[in-house]
Amino acid sequence: MNVPLLDLKGQYQKIKDEILASVHRVFEEQQFILGSPVKLLEEEIAGYCGCKHAVGVSSGTDALLISLMAFEIRPGDRILTSPYTFFATAGSIARLGGIPVFVDIDAESFNLSPDKLGEAIDRLEKKEKNHLKGIMPIHLFGQCADMAPILEIASSHGLFVIEDAAQAIGSEYLGRRAGSIGDVGCFSFFPSKNLGAFGDGGIVTTDSDELFSKLQIFRVHGASPKYYHQVIGGNFRLDAVQAAVVSVKLKHLDQWTRRRQENASKYRSFFKNEGLEDRITLPHEKGSRHIYNQFVIIAEGKRDGLQRFLKEAGIGTEIYYPVPLHLQKCFSYLGHRQGDFPLSEYAAENSLALPIYPELSDDQLSYVVKMIRKFYR
Ligand SMILES: *Cc1c(COP(=O)(O)O)cnc(C)c1O
Repeated sequence: MNVPLLDLKGQYQKIKDEILASVHRVFEEQQFILGSPVKLLEEEIAGYCGCKHAVGVSSGTDALLISLMAFEIRPGDRILTSPYTFFATAGSIARLGGIPVFVDIDAESFNLSPDKLGEAIDRLEKKEKNHLKGIMPIHLFGQCADMAPILEIASSHGLFVIEDAAQAIGSEYLGRRAGSIGDVGCFSFFPSKNLGAFGDGGIVTTDSDELFSKLQIFRVHGASPKYYHQVIGGNFRLDAVQAAVVSVKLKHLDQWTRRRQENASKYRSFFKNEGLEDRITLPHEKGSRHIYNQFVIIAEGKRDGLQRFLKEAGIGTEIYYPVPLHLQKCFSYLGHRQGDFPLSEYAAENSLALPIYPELSDDQLSYVVKMIRKFYR
């Protein structure tokens, strides 16, 4: 049996007519830059996330970058974030000359640990504290970070909060949607995200009128009006064609999310039935709306062997992420070493993402678990 990590072909076949009709309208209009499809998607996403505004941008990475630009990050500014995430979170800080201040994760959720966040701030020297500007928590794998204590710490130190919600569209924390909890939320329409475009794209959400207008200006080279540049921005625009695709897919998102959640529950019962619960640690769901962009298990000490075994059995898996950011070559100038963030290092060494996409059949899910049991025998 073949179980790829992700297969978008089945999803496309089901919505093909709607998608083709939607992009066809854009082709007929020949208005490819921003315009009504982008504006429509911005309104839809703002509504979906429970925010006042949304600004379509060129990628999830650019969503992060433009948000930091809107907060006027300058060289030497410090931003607290997790080392266990996709590169873009810390990469965007460093590209503006900012310094990512890494804080280790919570052992169960893999998200930024609020306790360690407080400790990290206490450890900063006074000079560093003066340059501390914000916090960038990541809602990793589709589950919100523990935002209440993070917001409390942010407000007591006067810090902004940018949610990296690239993997978490529609996920909730205490009844609030990802992207509506901090000052801004950053989403990605990268094809493997739960709401993917047919190429690159992203969006920023916010309740702030001031940030909304800044984001719109930074998106078009800082110009307002056209050719009168107030600030140095960039070309961070979302294509109309991508917006037209994403608008169609958004209508199906809740149904797909339900399927992902059902797949997660099925995995849980299959793992239990196979008696694998003491060998494998399953993802902890902490009472929020987890949207399962990824279903990530911990296979302590055996991850690489398990991945090879599953590959032989026709099962696709992925390691998110094999090297925590503090140990990346490009960040060696920060002076970190192995052991600095042990829980992030542990997750990087032992975690494995299993297929979880909506179109998987029960047979495929049970096959994955059966093969894992075979490996452990
Ligand atoms: C995918 C992702 C991004 C970047 O999104 P792109 O659209 O690929 O630029 C940023 N942060 C996280 C956590 C992601 O998963």
